[in-house]
Amino acid sequence: MTEKRSRDSAVSSTGDIWSSDEFQEYGDWILNWISHYFSNPQEYPVLAKVQPGEIRKRLPQHPPNRSEPMENVWSDFQSVILPGITHWNHPGFMAYFGITGSQPGILAETLSAALNVNGMLWKASPAATELEEVTLDWLRQLLGLPSRFWGVIQDTASLSSLVAMIAARQTIPGVRDEGLCGRSDLPPLRYYISQEAHSSIEKAGIVLGIGRKGVCSIPSDKNFRMDTRLLEKSIRADLDQGIRPFAVVATAGTTSTTSVDPLDRIAEICRRYKLWFHVDAAYAGAAALLPEKRELFKGWERADSIVVNPHKWLFCPIDLSVLYCRKPQVIREALSLVPAYLETPEADEVVNFMDYGVALGRRFRSLKLWFVLRTFGREGLQTRLQEHIRLAQQFSRWVGRSTLFRRMAPTPFSTVCFRLEPRSLKATPHKMTPATLDKLNETLLRNVNASGEIFISSTRLRGRTILRLAIGNIRTDERYLRRTCEILEAEAKRLLK
Ligand SMILES: *Cc1c(COP(=O)(O)O)cnc(C)c1O
Repeated sequence: MTEKRSRDSAVSSTGDIWSSDEFQEYGDWILNWISHYFSNPQEYPVLAKVQPGEIRKRLPQHPPNRSEPMENVWSDFQSVILPGITHWNHPGFMAYFGITGSQPGILAETLSAALNVNGMLWKASPAATELEEVTLDWLRQLLGLPSRFWGVIQDTASLSSLVAMIAARQTIPGVRDEGLCGRSDLPPLRYYISQEAHSSIEKAGIVLGIGRKGVCSIPSDKNFRMDTRLLEKSIRADLDQGIRPFAVVATAGTTSTTSVDPLDRIAEICRRYKLWFHVDAAYAGAAALLPEKRELFKGWERADSIVVNPHKWLFCPIDLSVLYCRKPQVIREALSLVPAYLETPEADEVVNFMDYGVALGRRFRSLKLWFVLRTFGREGLQTRLQEHIRLAQQFSRWVGRSTLFRRMAPTPFSTVCFRLEPRSLKATPHKMTPATLDKLNETLLRNVNASGEIFISSTRLRGRTILRLAIGNIRTDERYLRRTCEILEAEAKRLLK
């Protein structure tokens, strides 16, 4: 009936797999491990040193038939899985956007997993819905947004922006019932983004059924901000051709350079042409917590919708993205579809969050935001954001002074774009064409990342390869930044020899 395991306890064939003592013991192993890991993340190489397929090869091809002891699972986690982990918690992680899961956020995630509620309906767990309403209103206040903005949590910014664009598209007559296919009464639809907009905004066009042609990319100015003169020109030209513009997406903190589009001017254009105004502030939105950065966001209060990702720069474990919307009823009109098995008597008095997204099931994500906002407090969040910005500015100045590197974009937040471009090209044996410099920077990137001490990433700006250093990790400090400069400089000198 039961079988003996290596430990004395018996595994029951029904009910919980572990006794509560075992659960407690394994929980202690894991919490102890995490706690040690957070104190010493640099014990691991920041970038996983494995080849494609290597981890898969070390895992059994077939699932286990019989219960395995936790000792084995835990030991394989350490010996098989960990070597294939890129350590986002490592202080040298400065690629993409550095992020921090934060201790309170992680414990809240554990509780959320334990409660295992699906917050699709208010009734499905009233606290999940009401805590989401309250925490998102707190966050709204912290960001300095007016009270007309109402928030809903989505998993990622990609989904938040998709939902925003679904709401924008709802302004097209008959779209919900008739769809877009085969309609002779509809002109081609179009929305506008900057050249520097995130790929998710273009992807939304594919999902919405307006095609990539339905998303018009507007060139950016020398500081990588949307050229609003060209925006207006494109809208006019499209109107003349019988195309129907319906939205503009501005970015506050683009992914490559963190440039901020001229939000105020774009808001004005949207008002004039009656277009939905969406602001993608997935990364940089958090900086609106800082009074000294508010000015950069001027105009976003005029948006119809805004996305901010607390999982990027507000110390919440991935995933948690917030979509703020001035007209949530439009999202609801576009997406609400209530089957009989989900009808509830209090539907008119409460928010049923399933009405404001694509997915039905929803994790209890607001719990981690609540833990983070309360344990850090406004001031605790502000001082950490300020420190990240200070470190990035320091790095930016170092690049400015260096005779080897050049800064390639302004640094409004905590992300620095730069590249190896020696001041005195004569000092190098090769003639440096832009293409050779690209190659050189790609090699430099590969080599510094192979060090295992730092991980930075790259992007392309105006066709050229650029390196990117992004600080958003609570554990990155001045010491690590100095080490980063040393590694970069030593490797650059070695390459130029
Ligand atoms: C990171 C980022 C996104 C995508 O975020 P996900 O949550 O991963 O979908 C979108 N826009 C901007 C500006 C970003 O920085």
